[in-house]
Amino acid sequence: MSEEIEHIKCLIIGSGPAGYSAAIYAARADMHPVMYQGLQPGGQLTITTEVENYPGYPEGTKGPEMMEDFRRQAERFGTDIRYGMATAVNFTEGKHTVTIDGNKSVTADTVIISTGASAKWLGLPSEERLNGYGVSACAVCDGFFFKGQEVAIVGAGDTAAEEASYLAKLCKKVYMIVRRGEMRASKAMQHRVMNLPNIEILWHSETMDILGEDGVTGVKVFNSETSEERIIPITGFFVAIGHKPNTDIFKDQLEMDDVGYLIVQSGSTKTRIPGIFACGDAADKIYRQAVTAAGTGCMAALDAERYLSAVGIH
Ligand code: NDP
Repeated sequence: MSEEIEHIKCLIIGSGPAGYSAAIYAARADMHPVMYQGLQPGGQLTITTEVENYPGYPEGTKGPEMMEDFRRQAERFGTDIRYGMATAVNFTEGKHTVTIDGNKSVTADTVIISTGASAKWLGLPSEERLNGYGVSACAVCDGFFFKGQEVAIVGAGDTAAEEASYLAKLCKKVYMIVRRGEMRASKAMQHRVMNLPNIEILWHSETMDILGEDGVTGVKVFNSETSEERIIPITGFFVAIGHKPNTDIFKDQLEMDDVGYLIVQSGSTKTRIPGIFACGDAADKIYRQAVTAAGTGCMAALDAERYLSAVGIH
């Protein structure tokens, strides 16, 4: 005899600021949301330290604490928060099936996708060890802590160029570590970084190691053209080599761009399948901030609520 499949009115996949904000709105609208938290409960903010740019925390807060506040608020209104990861989906109009942990299936009237994105890392052990202690993948989040100091950023795309310019406003000096002899960033962004006097571009350069015990003290760089190795004293090391949206399971089901960011209708969170909504970093390659993720999470819950009303599910 086959087990009965659980049916959920509003299923939320992912537990960052977008997912929790969607949960708070959905729970308060009596949509009985069920959230599967995913591999990293709380999302990317749980691997940052201080958060000073989220409105409502005048003294700042810690990323993990902020996500704990989000979780408690979502639970207060009755969100059913569960461990587990969505491992496969089958979305057709009117029938949405999601497999959890490869062994359990649920069906849902509405699905809110808030699976976020993950920063790409160089893969050095020192980078992992010093993550949150001088190593960061978000200059806008953490640049402030290095005011007046010397820092380095690795990457040569638009993000790296934008973040290098941002850091140059705060820091005494910014070393931009570029692995080839040219940048991938747009000409306008390249022009901007090349014209800032306190940015020094290190061409043909590879990061060998990040130095420091409890905090960053320097970076060891290898120049592939001259074969020279050099240690640069810095206190902050930023990685800006791209992000990867966590959307692999939606391939062949939903529209996405060539990197994997989900495509939603402009000004809404609607995907091409009615009842399936996407929010947060999984559908945002431009802003990627906690506050924008929370905003689109709210939008997703409101879109889902309107969808349920329109199809007559109460
Ligand atoms: P990109 O994929 O465009 O660039 C990644 C950069 O990181 C490349 O220069 C790449 O080098 C470098 N890189 C990758 N792996 C390594 C490594 N292991 N070691 C050293 N360097 C490495 O990512 P972005 O995040 O910059 O941009 C993503 C998308 O978002 C782009 O389409 C971009 O245009 C867009 N964007 C637009 C903005 C805007 O319009 N304001 C702002 C930010 C992003 P290489 O070139 O050698 O491959």
